[in-house]
Amino acid sequence: MSRSIRGSVSPATHRWGDLWLKTRWLLPVVGPPVEHAWLQVKRGRLHAFGQWPPRQHGQQFVDLEDAVVTAGFVNAHTHLEFSDCQSPFDTTGGLPDWIEQVIDWRRRQPAGTRELAVHRGLAESAEAGVVAVGEIATTVPAGADLHALQAGPRLRIFQEVLGLAPVCPGVTPAAVATARRDIQRLAQAGFAPGLSPHAPYSTQWPTGRWALATARHLHSLTSTAGGHRKLVPLAMHLAESEDEQEFLELQSGRFRQLFDSLGVWPTTPPRLATTADWISLLARADRGLIVHGTHLPSDRLAWARLQRHRQRLAIAVCPRTTQALAGRLPPLADFLNAGIRVCLGTDGRGSNPDLSIRAEATCLINAGLISPEQALTMTTVNAAWGLGFDRTTGFLAPGRPADLVVLRPEVAPTTAASATAAVFAPDTHVTATLRGGRLIAGSLE
Ligand SMILES: [Zn+2]
Repeated sequence: MSRSIRGSVSPATHRWGDLWLKTRWLLPVVGPPVEHAWLQVKRGRLHAFGQWPPRQHGQQFVDLEDAVVTAGFVNAHTHLEFSDCQSPFDTTGGLPDWIEQVIDWRRRQPAGTRELAVHRGLAESAEAGVVAVGEIATTVPAGADLHALQAGPRLRIFQEVLGLAPVCPGVTPAAVATARRDIQRLAQAGFAPGLSPHAPYSTQWPTGRWALATARHLHSLTSTAGGHRKLVPLAMHLAESEDEQEFLELQSGRFRQLFDSLGVWPTTPPRLATTADWISLLARADRGLIVHGTHLPSDRLAWARLQRHRQRLAIAVCPRTTQALAGRLPPLADFLNAGIRVCLGTDGRGSNPDLSIRAEATCLINAGLISPEQALTMTTVNAAWGLGFDRTTGFLAPGRPADLVVLRPEVAPTTAASATAAVFAPDTHVTATLRGGRLIAGSLE
């Protein structure tokens, strides 16, 4: 018989990410659930798993008893700079009013607070079972301790770029120059880079083309070890509000009022593009991640473009933020009926009360828009694909990094369906999060 222990992972074992675990349920996400499962983690990778008992004997198992073990969650969209916010900004005035509050808040933030907030956000994410995050970064402060950010969840850092100032041929806009400097620093520090033209109302078309060209350039510089260049995706907020559509058509309305009041509306009309054109641009990247897309189904041209390119795109929905800012939930039925790959994000604490990706899923499950099985797919394998992390994380299989979460349901599930439902039950607790076989939050006790 294999010896069973609880909560005694020796430091030597843990250093190498070597573990034997025993659990009531193992949900690999890709592949059938296993009841009464064992799994072996070797040098940070999932070496093997199966139904109890294993053929080999003599190992010391960490017995997780009635736990559910599944792939660690992937939060496809965050803005961790807001992670110190105790409560979201007022959302009752919709997106333009919310943006005005954010700009005012940013101006009042003392230097250095953004870096601390990002650290807190990553810690909160890991405690919520998250092993990878799609983070939108604005500026990277000089002297930022980038290496300290690498101890928690995997990071895909989308460097944001925006601006309405006139774009002159042959002259690099200041915002683009800053973004270029920051993305190069992040890539050199070992982070997985991406780019994010912010939104169609704030970003000019030439800047979007620059972002695509830069993503391709960064892709060409990546190592070809193993025969695969690393992906450099693009992410963009699209069709988030009805005001956005009015602004793009007429350059008037609440966004125009916002830009006028901020004094950023240029004397030369900005070179804006349609939502459909932005979708085409995203589809030309290694991966294109559409954030929100709440009003896409009512934009005939954009919807047709999305369907045409759906194999190259994913949509990250942030249900609680959309409910707060748009007064409705994302159009999940439209997306799913059209065969669009959907993933979930929490957005930031500027528009959401916490960074719980499970709470986002529960919001959609309770509204009857998705099943727990769909929620598990959206918060793992789909989101990993959207972030270009699909070779690394998002499902459990031998040989892949042991990125997993241990969940303890209030009542032991007796069927695979109830085990999957328990993943998103409010009374289920995340007790451990492992990235590459190492604990990044919680414990195995
Ligand atoms: Zn966002």
